[in-house]
Amino acid sequence: MPAPQSDTGRRAYELDRAHVFHSWSAQQEIDPMVITTAQGSTVWDADGTEYLDFSSQLVYTNIGHQHPKVVAAIQEQAATLCTIAPAHANEARSEAARLIAERAPEGMDHVFFTSGGAEAVENAVRMARLHTGRYKTLSLYRGYHGATQLAANLTGDHRRWASDYGNSGAVHFFGPFLYRSEFHASTEAEECGRALQHLEQMIRFEGPEAFAALIIETIPGTSGIMPPPPGYLPGVREICDRYGIVMICDEVMAGFGRTGAWFAVEHYGVVPDLITFAKGVNSGYVPLGGVIISQEIYETFAHRPYPGGLTYSGHPLACAAAVATITAMAEERVVENAARIGAEVLRPGLEGLAAKHPSIGEIRGLGAFFALDLVIDRETREPLAPYGGSSDAVRATVAACRERGLLVFTNYHRIHLAPPLNVTDKECQRMLDILDEALTVADAHTTTGASQPELEPTR
Ligand code: PLP
Repeated sequence: MPAPQSDTGRRAYELDRAHVFHSWSAQQEIDPMVITTAQGSTVWDADGTEYLDFSSQLVYTNIGHQHPKVVAAIQEQAATLCTIAPAHANEARSEAARLIAERAPEGMDHVFFTSGGAEAVENAVRMARLHTGRYKTLSLYRGYHGATQLAANLTGDHRRWASDYGNSGAVHFFGPFLYRSEFHASTEAEECGRALQHLEQMIRFEGPEAFAALIIETIPGTSGIMPPPPGYLPGVREICDRYGIVMICDEVMAGFGRTGAWFAVEHYGVVPDLITFAKGVNSGYVPLGGVIISQEIYETFAHRPYPGGLTYSGHPLACAAAVATITAMAEERVVENAARIGAEVLRPGLEGLAAKHPSIGEIRGLGAFFALDLVIDRETREPLAPYGGSSDAVRATVAACRERGLLVFTNYHRIHLAPPLNVTDKECQRMLDILDEALTVADAHTTTGASQPELEPTR
């Protein structure tokens, strides 16, 4: 990217390079884009260049950028009461908890607020450990739960490796993923049954009475947007019940409408013991996360102090933003819009691209939450970038999107399309047109180019 031309843009860039230490990055290898303004599904860089934001940043601006009602609610709360310690009751916090509990599965009526997703995960596991008196945890290899110490250890993907000292009690397993099956399955039903068998074997061989919790992204997000087959999560629930393990569904990314339902668990008819959330709860306008707690776990701490807390738990600015976000989402029916746009615009549009572009191996997703699994060869399904890394082919494809005014979320060999839930049909069409051009770059890196076999039907 060329450095910004405007004085303010250049100053922001230079000060960033001089003083800001960025997450997940080799500091001198990065070239951050200066973003100055944003509205809805669009952001503008320091020189006024416009981009469609189909990344929702880190998949969190569920109501779009700068929603006027959320901005006004933050301003009003700031003018009234910027902050108050967690021990006090506060209107914004109480109302946010009520709105969240109202949308959670029945019987999950209490909310512990945190400042983000990883803290939610840490606290959910702490609750499970104290509730069960056990220590070990189960989580997916293809899963991400945050970057604090325990959350990183629960994370299954390569981001765990640098922080894993082997003493966290975290045990990982494979979930169902037919396209890259670990179980040599050829149907969803086979994949589902074998994945459940594998989970149970893991528990039996690791010592069933050691497990406090199983944490699972209801629909794994960063690791590939893999909606599980219908029977999988009910099967996990049943195994957890049988072995006395607390089931935690991590909805930090999938929650608050992303999949076309308030919580993704609704698609599968499961009620976990704990749900972790963050991101979409207030579109990330002010940092907020939390744990939604079942009655049974709540009762463990009814007369015994919960040994955990955070200075900013239930911060009024963040909670006021959550109240306004959830209220506006309901009034403007943005969750319904996400469901419709996924079924009527994104899926058919992406399937149309798959018919033309041999680099698309599989399309997965629902709502405003889709992944393109890019491959070198449709037959072998060899990914366009290696596990844990990137490749020139993926970098060039993403750059081609950006040059044409489209921001996407990428991970290894995948492109994820996760726009705000109130994205318009027209914006989706523009994204599809840009992607259509950009994918020719990826196609050029495939082994047999346009003569690849037809795509198999996808979910
Ligand atoms: N859990 C899931 C499923 C996530 O996607 C993320 C972040 O992307 C986290 C937890 C961690 O959240 P945070 O970055 O707010 O700590």
